[in-house]
Formats: sequence, structure tokens, C-alpha cells
Amino acid sequence: MTKKLYDFDGHRSTFEATVLSCEKAEKGWRVTLDQTAFFPEGGGQKADPGTLGGIEVLDVQIENGEIFHLLPSPLPAGKTVHGAIDYETRFHRMQNHSGEHIVSGLIHTLFGYENVGFHMGSECVTVDYSGELSEEQLARVEMLANRAVWENREIRIEYPAPEALETIPYRSKLDLKDDVRIVTIEGYDICACCAPHVSHTGEIGVIKLLEAIRYKGGTRLNMLCGFDALADYNEKYRVLRKISNRLSAKQSEAFEAVLRLEEEIAAQKNSLYFLKKSLIEAKIAAMKETAGSICLFEESLETDSMRRLANEGAQRCGGICIVLSGSDQKGYSFIAASRNVPLREEARKLAAALSGKGGGSDEMIQGRISASRKEIEAYFGRSAHATEKS
Ligand SMILES: [Zn+2]
Repeated sequence: MTKKLYDFDGHRSTFEATVLSCEKAEKGWRVTLDQTAFFPEGGGQKADPGTLGGIEVLDVQIENGEIFHLLPSPLPAGKTVHGAIDYETRFHRMQNHSGEHIVSGLIHTLFGYENVGFHMGSECVTVDYSGELSEEQLARVEMLANRAVWENREIRIEYPAPEALETIPYRSKLDLKDDVRIVTIEGYDICACCAPHVSHTGEIGVIKLLEAIRYKGGTRLNMLCGFDALADYNEKYRVLRKISNRLSAKQSEAFEAVLRLEEEIAAQKNSLYFLKKSLIEAKIAAMKETAGSICLFEESLETDSMRRLANEGAQRCGGICIVLSGSDQKGYSFIAASRNVPLREEARKLAAALSGKGGGSDEMIQGRISASRKEIEAYFGRSAHATEKS
């Protein structure tokens, strides 16, 4: 069994150890040591990153009490090696994990709910509770949890004897009776847990509860602690400052400023709608009767308006009225209407002449054309097709 140096000292970042075994594995070499500071993946927390004998540790797993370090190259058995965990990552995780214990302990004491799922992701810590929690309840938990930080309580680690364990009212009851590691935060929480923790709650810095959603009859809560909470605050502050500067509003009034902006946009959309409508009417009024075709290039018209123009044009021409929108580079989308030319047949001709794609009825077709404006105008201006410039 590997001696777990992180067990009683979460702050231990370097150590010397003897290599007990080194076996070839699928993706590298599995190394066991007489002792290690590397926390193996478990209970929703990833393995510690770091180096062993100067070699990067890819993963750390525990199987039947034996801790395996996965390395990209071998280390000779019997050799004494220097190990170093990435302490920065370890400390962030300890802040988050110890903070989670306080929050889960409070929720258990105040509302009787269990922690039924724990995951320490790269974005935040996610915990599932067995009951629904209101915003007010969570606000109370957050305040009390931060009070626990300010009180700088000791976080005690112990392995009680089986008979003593029976008398301890701890969370996360396991079937195991031996080697149960109990993490106690006096006045706040007693929990069975195998992960490294900070030694005093003051090290957690701050506990921030983020969004909570209803999940499987309970609550899924995201939270951040310590450095990660500060980084999150900095990021949110940076974004809010940019938004409020852009809106020329105080940060506390940015939301109201966004609402005003939305109202302005809605009003402008409304007037734009009426402007476009009168523009279409003007275009229709300006259409001349022709025996040939009408070819209109229009920017930023909705499909409905394009259809309307095509229909109106079809009534005023002997050929086809085609309305196009797009550019030579990206191609054109089109709607075409006609009273006299069967358009399904015309769609096949368009495909051949202008790399057109599309379909519809004999009275109306729509699709795309991959040709230049010049080519399109030439096509519809030919023989029976007369072009009307927009
Ligand atoms: Zn834990």
C-alpha cells in the first residue's frame, strides 16, 4: 500500500519516494511508489498533475489501495525519485473541495438534503442535492458558508476506530467500517472523504454560489471558491465594465440600459418595416408594362417582399419577373414568377445556362443562381426577355 502523503498534509507539494514497480501499460508506464503526494482520481475530483523524476505524470489512479502513476517513460524499480505536484492546481482544488464541504454540511443541517453527486470541472464545482432549494435558502447558505471562512475554523482529518466511527454523525455514510477518513469542520460539517483539504477554512478565501437548477427532483448547484471565485469575479467585472461603458450607464444600471436599447431597436424595426413596405409599393408603381422579362436585383429584402415583387412583375410582363438578392461572389437567391412561361421547364434552362438550382410550380419558382449579375441580366434581356434595371 502506498503511503498517502496528501492524507494529513494537503499542502505537501514535493517528496522523495522509492520506485516499487514499473510496468508497461497501454498508454505508458504504471509506476508504484512507497509514498506519494499525488492524489489519485476519485470522488469527482481529477488526479493531481505534476512530475515524477522530472517526467510528466499523465494520470494517477488508485486500485485496492495501491496508487498507480502513469508516465510516458519508465523509471527503474528501486530508484529514489523526486516528486512534485502542480501545487497551484492542488490549492485551487482544495479551496473548492473544502468550500463544497461547508456548503453541503450547511444544506444537510438546515434542510436535511444529501449531496448525491459531485463533480469538480474546469469551469466550476457542480453538486447535486436530494431536495429543491429556493433562491432565498441558497442565499442564506452562501452567507453562512462565508461566515465559516471568516471564522477560520480548523479542518481536522482522522481515521476513527470502527466503534468510535459508529458514534460520529457524519455525511456520506459508506458501507466500509475500517479506514474511513473523516473530515471535520467544527460547527459546520463532518464528512467521509478521501481528498486533500486546506487546513483552515480561512484559506478558502470566498465561497460563491452560482446558478442552481432543478435536477431529478432535487437541485444541481454550481459554485466557485477561493482563487477561482476571484478569477470569475474579475472576468464578470471586466465584461460588465465594457458593457456599461458602451451603454454609457453605471454598472448597476446596465440592465435597465439594455432594456431601453431593446425598446429602441423594436421601435426602429417597426419604422423600418413601414419604410420597406412603402419602398416596395413605390417599386411596384414604377414597374413598366413590357412584353419581355423583368429582372430586379434587390438588397436585403425578405422572402415575402421578393415574392410580392415577382408576382406584381409577372402581371406586368409577357415573360418572367425574377427578383434576385446576393452578390457575384456569393451567388444570388431568386424568386421568379410568370403568367405565360412554364417555370418548371424554365428552371431546367436556368440550371443549364446560369448554374441555377431550384424549383416550384409553373407559376413560381425559387432557388439559387451561381452566375454574375451581368450574365443574369444578359440571359433575361435576350430575345423575348427585356431587362428593367432596379
Ligand atoms: Zn469531499
